[in-house]
Amino acid sequence: MNKKIMQVDVAIIGAGPAGLAAATRLRQRGVDQVVVLDREAEGGGIPRHCGHPPFGMREFYSVLTGPQYAKRLVAQAITAGVRVLTRHTITRLLKGGELEVATPDGLITIMAKRVLIATGVRETPRSARLVTGARPLGITTTGALQSMFYLKGLVPFKRPVVIGTELVAFSSIMTASNAGLEPVAMIESGSRITARHPCELLPLFKGVPLLLNTELEEILGVTKVEGVSVKNTKTGERRLIECDGVIFTGQFTPESTLARMSHLKVDPASGGLHINQFGRCSDPAYFAAGNILRPVETAGWSYREGRSVGGWIADDLERASSLIHDPEVTLICEDPIKLVVPQRIISGQSGGFTHLQLRVCRPVTGELIIENDDKTFWQKKISTLPERRILIPITDLDYFEGTKSLRVYLKE
Ligand SMILES: Cc1cc2nc3c(=O)[nH]c(=O)nc-3n(C[C@H](O)[C@H](O)[C@H](O)COP(=O)(O)OP(=O)(O)OC[C@H]3O[C@@H](n4cnc5c(N)ncnc54)[C@H](O)[C@@H]3O)c2cc1C
Repeated sequence: MNKKIMQVDVAIIGAGPAGLAAATRLRQRGVDQVVVLDREAEGGGIPRHCGHPPFGMREFYSVLTGPQYAKRLVAQAITAGVRVLTRHTITRLLKGGELEVATPDGLITIMAKRVLIATGVRETPRSARLVTGARPLGITTTGALQSMFYLKGLVPFKRPVVIGTELVAFSSIMTASNAGLEPVAMIESGSRITARHPCELLPLFKGVPLLLNTELEEILGVTKVEGVSVKNTKTGERRLIECDGVIFTGQFTPESTLARMSHLKVDPASGGLHINQFGRCSDPAYFAAGNILRPVETAGWSYREGRSVGGWIADDLERASSLIHDPEVTLICEDPIKLVVPQRIISGQSGGFTHLQLRVCRPVTGELIIENDDKTFWQKKISTLPERRILIPITDLDYFEGTKSLRVYLKE
């Protein structure tokens, strides 16, 4: 039997805030056939299972919970004339905008003039963190816990330990509280929490001991979690904490499995797609927006990014790709700079992302420098912590015609 072929102007992979915002913008710009595809049964992305506020303040001028926000995003896109196809999983990205898609009715091919990849991020699960111990029941990530509880009303444990202190770890404490769970401890290997002050007040308020300088060594239990063994990183002292579950939080990584299996260039630093300042990937038919670009931004940021890239795709369709042959300069970051997005800039081109976005891998103080062998293009003193957004206005960088690559590094 011949495979069904669907032809569209723009296909968007991922019905989260970034994908839906881009789709709505494209329709508002008059692009005819815009389809959003998502593997889940409903659109809305991660916010569907973040059962807490605040979402949507800048987008809808209301304080919404995640599920309310997700519904508003889908409704807004459908009203604008977007086709949202759920239970559609993209299984392959091919050159020039051809997609292989698994649907409830079998495999189909989608031929799109442009494709936007907006597949978001995921937390690092236990398997990838190389934690010793057997594989007992009761180990999740925040995302898995939230979808179990908010989407299915299930809870896998009663007294879990929360590992990590990124913002999402505090979200897992809220989820635990809503689900009637009693977390026994929140563990952080560093000497301070990763999220901003005053997040540390939440565990205090909820009666959850926050253990800093504490490392998870082993998960105990054979069929079910019975406890964890932890070590104080300063004193070396070990202790056992009794618990019946472990929630691994944060350590986000872009959901770039599809891109890694494809011809598209993936940036080893960010773990996401390699883009220029218009969100364009290494194949000019493909664009990317939202948390697939880097771990991790808020829903509001992803929405605005999706909306912007949607607008640039509309420009691109109107212009029939006049920009794709313009020379680009590649930015290469060096430790402790963890990532820079976008990774390529078209020199002297106005429009697109207004800022380079950087992150560092550890607390740093020093001179942040962007240069090539001949010239320093940008330099500024910074003092910052991991997971904090650093923004550099692209217009602040000098004109760099003839330059192929620039180093982004820190002189400490
Ligand atoms: C556990 C967790 C909790 C979070 N909590 C918050 C919070 O409280 N507040 C906040 O602002 N941000 C939170 N975030 C950050 C969150 O990622 C962003 O808020 C926002 O959802 C990012 O939007 P996005 O559109 O980039 O991606 P997502 O919302 O992640 O949407 C991506 C979509 O792509 C789909 N997809 C992926 N691969 C495929 C494929 N091959 N085929 C078809 N569909 C595919 C997924 O099903 C998903 O629906 C959280 C993230 C996580 C992981």
